[in-house]
Amino acid sequence: MIDLKEQRTFKIGDVIMKQGEHGEAAYIIEQGKVEILLEKADGTEQRVGTRGPGAMIGEMAIVDNAPRTATVRAIENCELLEISANDFARRLLNADPVLRMTIQVILTRYRDTLVRADISNDTKAGFAAAESLEKNYLEQTDAVEAIKIENDFRSAMDKNDVEMHYQPMINLTDGQVAGFESLMRWFHQEKGFISPGIFIPVIEESGLIVTASQWALKASLKALKNIETKTGRDDLFMSVNFTSHDFSSPDFVKNIKKALKEEKVRPEQLHLEITERLLMGQPDVAKETLEECKNAGMSISIDDFGTGYSSLSYLHYFPIDKMKIDQSFVSNMMNDESSIAIVRAIVALGKNLNMKIIAEGIESLTEATMLKGIGCEYAQGYHFAKPMPESDAIEFVKNWKSPDF
Ligand code: C2E
Ligand code: CA
Ligand code: CA
Repeated sequence: MIDLKEQRTFKIGDVIMKQGEHGEAAYIIEQGKVEILLEKADGTEQRVGTRGPGAMIGEMAIVDNAPRTATVRAIENCELLEISANDFARRLLNADPVLRMTIQVILTRYRDTLVRADISNDTKAGFAAAESLEKNYLEQTDAVEAIKIENDFRSAMDKNDVEMHYQPMINLTDGQVAGFESLMRWFHQEKGFISPGIFIPVIEESGLIVTASQWALKASLKALKNIETKTGRDDLFMSVNFTSHDFSSPDFVKNIKKALKEEKVRPEQLHLEITERLLMGQPDVAKETLEECKNAGMSISIDDFGTGYSSLSYLHYFPIDKMKIDQSFVSNMMNDESSIAIVRAIVALGKNLNMKIIAEGIESLTEATMLKGIGCEYAQGYHFAKPMPESDAIEFVKNWKSPDF
């Protein structure tokens, strides 16, 4: 929803915006009527239309910052809701780059058509050539790169250039492999390995993540089943990452249940990894969805804990089973007292709330020993293993010997 900052009142005859001037706001007419006037080169005015309740006026100038293309005058007393140019600019900047670029290009084309049809004297008011403006928009946004990545990713999925790797999580109490986190891997035919840190946000923006996540879930459950069969361990879990887009897709829980059934995996073996951002973005939807998953027997982990929102009150609002301490705290633990303090605090908080704690990014035995001492239940990191393909994960479980922490 656009923030409607302020209600503005204009009296009959007031000029609400003036052709050629810089636009500070767009308005939605709540009450009253306005006329739209074009000032001609000879100084005369021509009425080109009227607008009443429910219409928006002045929207063009706040999209591209160009001068107003018409004058708007109240022909009745008016109540208007204001959308400030600053607020709109901020929203546009945060919008999906493809959406942002498309809005700007459509408007540029429209202004260009007006100029060419000689309806508007925008050129005099300083409207630059459409061609160079469009080029600017393209250069200013990451839209082109995002479109390329998205298209490439789509065909990579078809060509099996995307696969899942699995990183073990170790139970620090008994030293056993407890389960795996599934992580997506993309081997681009020309560019080589592309980090999920780059492509996940792009496919998230476009919504393609929903398809990718469903595919990832199925692949991860299949892998878990294979690991079970080949190692005789039927108590392992698989932790799968999900985003807010997945949560908002209509059949999210239904699809998960279907996949569990098809792959013959017990719901208790599936752990959903989500971020604090997801929970805070749409708390009520998230709560309902999580409760459905929880009631079906699945387990919920909060990923990257400690890096997101500072409010802790949400923790008991949602049915959370595990917290994953972000690797930034773990990697700083050795040379930074405050990181140790944070890890201790998170572990204590988890215990009080009846949640298990997983530490991420463990790169040394010293870190593992220290975390065990602090009371952390599970550990994941390069010290034990990097994410690996299914066949290596099978060998990893077979050959694993509990270490002496
Ligand atoms: P994440 O969910 O926090 O995943 C953990 C990341 O830390 C992984 O990076 C993993 O390879 C890396 N890591 C694990 N142990 C260590 C360690 O000891 N040291 C260091 N430096 N790094 C370690 P990766 O695979 O590059 O993934 C990055 C992020 O991309 C993930 O962060 C997750 O947010 C996202 N992602 C990856 N795969 C998927 C997926 O299938 N679905 C979704 N929605 N997101 C994914
Ligand atoms: Ca994760
Ligand atoms: Ca993480």
